[in-house]
Amino acid sequence: MRLFIAILLSEEMKKALTDAQQAMVDRGIRGRYSPEENLHLTLAFIGDYPDAQPVLDALNMVSFRPFDLSLEGIGCFGDLWWAGLKDSLPLAAVARRVRRALAESEIPFDRKRFSPHITLIRRASKDAAGIRVAPVGMRVQRLSLMRSDRGRNGMLYTELGTVEAALQEEVQP
Ligand code: ATP
Ligand code: MG
Repeated sequence: MRLFIAILLSEEMKKALTDAQQAMVDRGIRGRYSPEENLHLTLAFIGDYPDAQPVLDALNMVSFRPFDLSLEGIGCFGDLWWAGLKDSLPLAAVARRVRRALAESEIPFDRKRFSPHITLIRRASKDAAGIRVAPVGMRVQRLSLMRSDRGRNGMLYTELGTVEAALQEEVQP
């Protein structure tokens, strides 16, 4: 199984992202656009791992309060173009907690520095600089363990489990 931990996006945020993809299409940019249902923000990429349960157990050790995310601009890694997120301490903190929980459970993951981005297109035929993304926000209430399968028409993502934000501080006994 190919696994990763992600934040799934609100319908409103996905709409802003597909509008940006449409602006790319209108500019004549060809490539592998992420389908709307696949748009997500990866917190940790685990890759091939035989069993989801230990990963779910690790994810359930992560506690966090609801926090807000906001889209901000676009950028690229080579010919892959992404939408960025406004700098956010709670987002960086939750990614750190997820990665620490995985490490403590001895679940391997990609340790490259967390660089929050939402992939819009891979193998873009030309530069997408200047494409605008509406600065839509959303409240993050849960984190998701995702499985990635190579389907007939691209990647298929399935949510295997979630951890919910804590609504109030836990009371210490
Ligand atoms: P494809 O690999 O066919 O382009 P994909 O990247 O959408 O498809 P996965 O490779 O399974 O699917 O990746 C799932 C998520 O994890 C994506 O958000 C991807 O960008 C991210 N990801 C993949 N590999 C890594 C990695 N080595 N480090 C960090 N994030 C990664
Ligand atoms: Mg990939």
